[in-house]
Amino acid sequence: MATGKQEVSVHAPHKHIIILGAGVTGLTTALKLNSDPAPAQYDITIIAAHFPGDESIDYTSPKAGADWSPQATSSPEDAAMREYDKSTYDTEGPETEGLDGRGLWWREVVRGFAILDLEKEDNVPEGAVMGARNRTICLNVPKHLQYLMDKVREAGINVIRSKVDVSHGLEGVVQDAKRLVIESNPAVPENDFHALINCTGLGARHFVGDEEAGKLYPIRGQIIIVKGEATMDCTYDDFPQSSSVEENELAYVIPRPGSGTTILGGCKQKGNWDAEIDEELNDRIIERIKKWGLAEELRKSDGDRDFEILSSKVGLRPGRKGGPRVELEGRERINGVWVVHSYGHAGAGYQNSGGCSEKVAKLVGELVGL
Ligand SMILES: Cc1cc2nc3c(=O)[nH]c(=O)nc-3n(C[C@H](O)[C@H](O)[C@H](O)COP(=O)(O)OP(=O)(O)OC[C@H]3O[C@@H](n4cnc5c(N)ncnc54)[C@H](O)[C@@H]3O)c2cc1C
Repeated sequence: MATGKQEVSVHAPHKHIIILGAGVTGLTTALKLNSDPAPAQYDITIIAAHFPGDESIDYTSPKAGADWSPQATSSPEDAAMREYDKSTYDTEGPETEGLDGRGLWWREVVRGFAILDLEKEDNVPEGAVMGARNRTICLNVPKHLQYLMDKVREAGINVIRSKVDVSHGLEGVVQDAKRLVIESNPAVPENDFHALINCTGLGARHFVGDEEAGKLYPIRGQIIIVKGEATMDCTYDDFPQSSSVEENELAYVIPRPGSGTTILGGCKQKGNWDAEIDEELNDRIIERIKKWGLAEELRKSDGDRDFEILSSKVGLRPGRKGGPRVELEGRERINGVWVVHSYGHAGAGYQNSGGCSEKVAKLVGELVGL
């Protein structure tokens, strides 16, 4: 029944959050903040120079495998990383004590864990001393990134494609990001910005200050995409090397579910910024995979039993001394805005993404009202 009174709904003013970066870290964080702790508590804008579908050496996410395989060691320094990995695994180069897997921190985290009896296994790579098996997650990376992007659009999260000016350090980045948001939506008041989340991967080195920038380094990876979906995800690490050129190389197979393709890799070359494909490394990758009988089911049945190679890519994992940086910058706002970092995820950006976005959401939530 009409009362004659006008209904007025009172909304608390929304707080604006800027996410800088649209790799797996930025997109997952945007979606997490949008849904948690309370829906629509924040107005979110993602600003990035690259988005899903783009190819650039400055954009690592499309180049990943990506599977869940432990990258953290058992050392106290990696405690946070273990938690991020665990959290991601739960929602979707290990070291050993002896060869029975007692020292593997993740044996209690993953499902279907077993130590392999190498005497009974087929295709055991030459020189292997220990093996373990577990159920893992393999992502179709282009599809996963597109899925995250579609979710971002569905959620009405504002998106701006632009490079943010890094020439005046972190303060300049905050200022320029605010300018971009206001330009795209003049209704946003200058003093309505709550936080900026820095998800820029290796790009962070251009504005986080010399000390922090000195901790960041590339871990170069190179992958070959072949036709067919392997039936098993596997990695052979620390194998006996016949020459120093093999240092930092490994052999892995990661199927991309639903794509009809598989990733063969690879390498972890610390400090190497080279964006060009090393054809000799590709030859070594294929040679090893064949020699050790990995992904046999993908090799052509006739002639030289080659793999059908579709393409090859180089990507730079955002390495950081001390592990990923997921924390608040200092104790004060920068240019009126809290800055929370989430970068330096090295070879684990996908498997960290669940745990890290949860931590960012918690940090941002604690800042509300301060
Ligand atoms: C060969 C290879 C295999 C891998 N395998 C796995 C795996 O199996 N499992 C796994 O979990 N991880 C894996 N990784 C690691 C994973 O890919 C990375 O950890 C992850 O992609 C990092 O994502 P990010 O979003 O932090 O950074 P990025 O994807 O690099 O995104 C950075 C974003 O910041 C933006 N940006 C930077 N500076 C600016 C600026 N000034 N202005 C505007 N925008 C800016 C960029 O445009 C981009 O959108 C692998 C990586 C490689 C290379």
